[in-house]
Formats: sequence, C-alpha cells, structure tokens
Amino acid sequence: MTYDVVIIGAGAAGLMCAAQAGYAGKRVLVIDHATKAGKKILMSGGGRCNFTNLGTTPQHFYSSNPYFCISALKRYRPEHFVELVERHGIDYVEKTPGQLFCATSAKEIVRMLLTECEWAGADIRLSTQVTRVEEQGSAMRLTTSIGSIDAGVVVVASGGLSIPTMGASSFGYDLARQFGLAVRPTTPGLVPFTLSDQWKARASDLSGVSLPVTVSAGSQRFNEPMLFTHRGLSGPGMLQASSVWAPGEAIEIDLLPQQDAKALLHHAREHTPKRQLATWLMDYLPKRVAQSLCDWYPEGHDKQPLAQYSNTQLERWAARLNRWQLKPAGTEGWRTAEVTMGGVDTQAISSKTFEVCGLPQLRFIGEVLDVTGELGGYNFQWAWASGVACGQAC
Ligand code: FAD
Repeated sequence: MTYDVVIIGAGAAGLMCAAQAGYAGKRVLVIDHATKAGKKILMSGGGRCNFTNLGTTPQHFYSSNPYFCISALKRYRPEHFVELVERHGIDYVEKTPGQLFCATSAKEIVRMLLTECEWAGADIRLSTQVTRVEEQGSAMRLTTSIGSIDAGVVVVASGGLSIPTMGASSFGYDLARQFGLAVRPTTPGLVPFTLSDQWKARASDLSGVSLPVTVSAGSQRFNEPMLFTHRGLSGPGMLQASSVWAPGEAIEIDLLPQQDAKALLHHAREHTPKRQLATWLMDYLPKRVAQSLCDWYPEGHDKQPLAQYSNTQLERWAARLNRWQLKPAGTEGWRTAEVTMGGVDTQAISSKTFEVCGLPQLRFIGEVLDVTGELGGYNFQWAWASGVACGQAC
C-alpha cells in the first residue's frame, strides 16, 4: 500500500489533519489501534465536547517553548472551527463565557470530522497496530497489522497518556525518541487532587458540594469553582491548579474570593456579637462547608458567640478563609487526567508545517507535543489548529 500521507491517530488532531491533506489532493490514510475514532472527543465536556474557546490566545497554553503555538493558533482561529460546526448544522451553546459546547452531543463533532474525511477522500483504518516506522530515503515505511505501508509523510497524532482505557499510549513519545527527538517529562494535567486519609474522609463528607473559590498553585491563581469529592478535590479550579502543581507543595484556597475575611469578621464581632461563627459563616459559604470548617478547626467551643473570639482567634479564622492551605497527597493520575503536560519537545519541530527539522517526512501534531492548554476548550483548539496547519503543509 502506498499513501502520500499516513496519520497515526484518529483523534481530534489526526482527523482534522486528514481532511485538510485530503482536500489538498493527497492520498491519505488514518490508522488507529482503537475500535472507534475520536473516543476522547466523545467523552469530552461531559459528553457535550467543549470544542473551542472564543478567547483562545497563546497565553492559555503551557509549553517549555511558549512561542511554538502562536503561528498555528493565529492561522486557524476559534471562529474558523465555529464556521465548520455551523456548516454541518451542529447546534452549540456558550456555557461559561467563550466556552462553546455542543447543544446535544459530542457525537456530532466526531460525525462532522468523519464526514469531512469522507468528503476529502481520506481512508480510515481502525483496530490497526503500527509496529514499526522507518525512514526509506525521502519517504517512510510503516509495518502494521494490515501489512507494510509506504508513506510520503507520516504524521504522528497519537495524543497523550491520559485515560489509557480510551486508547492512550506512549507511541508518539517512543517514536520521537527513535528519531532522536527529546521528550519533555510528562505528568497528568487537569486532574482531580487526592488527599491524605484524614482529609479524604472530610472531603468525602462534603462530596458533591461545590463553591466559588480562588485556588493558588505555584505562581498561578485560578478563579473557578471547586468541588469536594469522595477522593479529594475537583472542579474547574482544582483541575486548573493540578496542571501547575508540584508534588509535595501546598495549594492555597481563598474561600471568600474578593472579600477581606479579617474586616468582615471584625465587623461581625462588633455589630452582631451574639452570633456564632458557624451561623455567620453560612452567610458566605454553603451550610455544610461552614459547619464542617468549624468542626475541623475548633476554636474555643462550638456555641461560643463571636464577642468571645480574641483578635488572634479572628485573625486565624481570617487567614483560614482567605488563605486556606492544604497539601494534596497527589492526583488521580492518568486514569482521570484530561491532558498530558509535557511531551515531544518542540525545539526540533517547525511551528508552521509541524515537520521534524531535517526529516520533513515525519510530523507531530496535537497533544503528543509539549503544548498543553488550560481548561475550557483550548486543548481542542490546539488539536484543530495544529491539524489544519500540518494537513495544509503536507
Ligand atoms: P487524541 O484525541 O487523544 O487522539 C489520539 C488518537 O491516537 C486516539 O484515537 C488513540 O486511540 C490513537 N492512538 C494512540 N496510540 C496509538 C497507537 N499506538 N497506534 C494507533 N493509534 C494510537 N479538551 C477540550 O478542549 N475540551 C474538552 O471539553 C475536553 N474534555 C476532555 C475530557 C476528558 C475526559 C479528556 C480525557 C480530555 C478532554 N479534553 C478536552 C482534552 C482533549 O480531549 C485532548 O486534548 C484532545 O483529544 C487531543 O487531541 P489529539 O488528537 O492530539 O489526541
């Protein structure tokens, strides 16, 4: 078998690239070892796929080479993908400002991509293993479970390591190393935190409760809700924090964002001295969280009125409310992570064509690269943008 372009990975980036290369007149084959194309798209955004973010800028991405993503993101913008979605008659909604989701199901995005591939004449072979990729002069030869395939260009779109049960593999990293490319250390990103046994039990009691907070991890702050779970802490704020968190570090949670807890507490002690702390806290926090905080940090006794709190006690509470320090035990890891931080080093990859410098017949796109978006549709926008840039350049 001979193809102009063979793409390994029928995910977001691979399918987008296939359609573009096909429309450009290339003979295209997409290979995937999974039984279905676009499995991650199907499970994304709670089954509704947050397919882009209208506010996408390069600042929404982590990479050891922050300039790498600029060119592709500039050339293929969220509006371009929205235009494609509209052309296919897919209804969408803007949930949080800028974040666009399918109105009904993520299946529509996969269907759209498969239709585009069909119109562009790209072949797709699922349940197919690639066992070897080697250079053949200025082309490439693949050994696969459906036989040997010669390709003018091989595009690696095999994604990251998150959710191994969905087909994730280290294929792209292994191949990069085989061709002498560096791979930046990979860690799970956008993943819930786990807590030590004592705190796990406490979080579990509050499981399902969500509240708006500001979470700080490393040098970053995220103004987004957190959610208590049976294992620890999740919700958009915690997922975002997990991407920049270093194991062993504490995270800081502002339970009263944009409010000065010290001033509020002093005011309350002066004007409502008979109130109990828990009752006062319920004005600002969900009832169960307010009561639990008082149980976890008994100062004096539960029924003590605010008037009896010393300045030191009030200040301790103020610090707890505005700067609550918690040390996660870890994260839920690859099993539930939405993305992979790190990946194939972009230093030796062209940001315009995605070809490996000195080996233009080999290209890497999408999440396998060391480019990872924040939460909110940025990761798909990167998959589309890198797929289009590479597909057009093939
Ligand atoms: P993938 O979509 O992961 O595709 C890679 C493909 O390569 C897969 O089909 C896989 O089977 C195949 N493959 C892997 N190894 C091999 C191999 N050895 N041989 C052959 N084929 C192979 N991002 C957003 O922007 N918005 C969201 O709402 C969102 N929600 C998410 C929810 C979850 C639960 C998860 C896990 C991720 C979510 N993401 C979201 C992230 C997003 O899904 C990924 O960033 C995106 O899918 C990456 O696209 P990709 O094409 O690079 O890789």
